[in-house]
Amino acid sequence: MEDIFILNEDQRAILATVARFVEEEVMPRAAKLDADPDPEAGFSWEIVEKAHEVGIRTMTLSEKWGGLGADSLTTAMVIEELARGDLGVSVVMAQTLKIAQIMQKALNDEQRARVLPGFAKDPRGVLAIGITEPDNASNYFLPHPVPFRTTAEKTKGGWIVNGMKHFISNGNRASHYLLFAQTGKGQPMAEGATCFLLERGRRGFSIGRVHDKMGERLANNAELIFQDCFIPDENVVGAVGKGFNVLAEFFPQSNAYAGASVLGVAGALHQKSIDWAKTRVQGGKPLIEHDGIRAQLAEMRMLIDASRSYIHRACWLADHQENGWDRTLGALPKAMASQAAWKIATWCMEIHGGHGYMKESGVEKLVRDAAAFLHSDGVNRTLFLKAANFMFRD
Ligand SMILES: Cc1cc2nc3c(=O)[nH]c(=O)nc-3n(C[C@H](O)[C@H](O)[C@H](O)COP(=O)(O)OP(=O)(O)OC[C@H]3O[C@@H](n4cnc5c(N)ncnc54)[C@H](O)[C@@H]3O)c2cc1C
Repeated sequence: MEDIFILNEDQRAILATVARFVEEEVMPRAAKLDADPDPEAGFSWEIVEKAHEVGIRTMTLSEKWGGLGADSLTTAMVIEELARGDLGVSVVMAQTLKIAQIMQKALNDEQRARVLPGFAKDPRGVLAIGITEPDNASNYFLPHPVPFRTTAEKTKGGWIVNGMKHFISNGNRASHYLLFAQTGKGQPMAEGATCFLLERGRRGFSIGRVHDKMGERLANNAELIFQDCFIPDENVVGAVGKGFNVLAEFFPQSNAYAGASVLGVAGALHQKSIDWAKTRVQGGKPLIEHDGIRAQLAEMRMLIDASRSYIHRACWLADHQENGWDRTLGALPKAMASQAAWKIATWCMEIHGGHGYMKESGVEKLVRDAAAFLHSDGVNRTLFLKAANFMFRD
């Protein structure tokens, strides 16, 4: 049996490649891209193409489809390492890696053969998932018994989709999407939503606003707009009306991947705190020699290590559910890692004193990034409620 606490040789080699990619391709570009006031301009195709060149973009595809067949534990490690360089880059890749994993399992043979080879070859192939809409967000996490506003009505040979999704990561950049729409009139979304495979460029499908986010700016989030958009029957993923099964069955590790992204930011904040504490002298000696500061650096380490263990356990059990998968693992690791990251962000600012508030220190970018996952992939309070429902209601 694999050991989730020890890196195997493959993982070591993959992480060394990713660390080099982060040092050479991400870190030198991140601050400038982040500072661009245009909400779209932080995204870099150059970074995506470089990620393709070194095999990161497709690593969750099996070898048959041109990837490395990385398991969920290894993927979480890669996502964390990417976020050490930049959160947005980590999110662009994490979405792509996770949706490729879902597609591989949830698409039927014909759909896989139609989509995966093209995606594997396309150096700009990124993926997106459209669930959230202006009126329904926590509603689908819990789920609350209301329908999605985005509807798909049956017509000859397919479905006519109308409505909109918003906040969608990679929404304006993706080549393929998984889209959730209401097919069962008068039913709650958990019983009447269907998952569709959607290709970019379909008539009636357009991109709306690109959201101007406070952080995570190297990733784009956008509105998806549907006006009488025809999606053929052969693009239904799974069974009609069973859209919610696609996520639950095929992607238990989604929450842990989100946790891994924000954990990378926590790691970067921790390192920045250590570096500053070693060089800044007050009270006649470097900050790191003051006990209060040293203790706080150790507490940061504890929060990061404990969050990582939780994420890794969730990922490993998601792939080996027979060993005791428990559904709270699909809701809580991200909440823990994002709370830890937020605490570490405020401590990092404090350790930097007034310098931490100055943009030139670079702490400010990390603080904005650390805030992203208090809400993304489910607001933490919503996720605690989801876990409580698993614990006490079902
Ligand atoms: C950066 C980013 C990236 C994202 N990427 C994607 C993506 O790729 N695809 C996608 O589909 N979505 C995406 N989302 C959407 C994300 O999952 C939702 O934003 C998130 O679920 C919060 O939705 P909301 O803002 O509408 O909050 P709401 O659901 O309106 O919640 C507001 C507040 O009310 C609380 N609340 C809600 N319901 C209850 C209840 N029943 N009881 C008690 N309290 C409650 C919440 O906990 C929260 O504090 C992204 C969001 C962000 C910020």
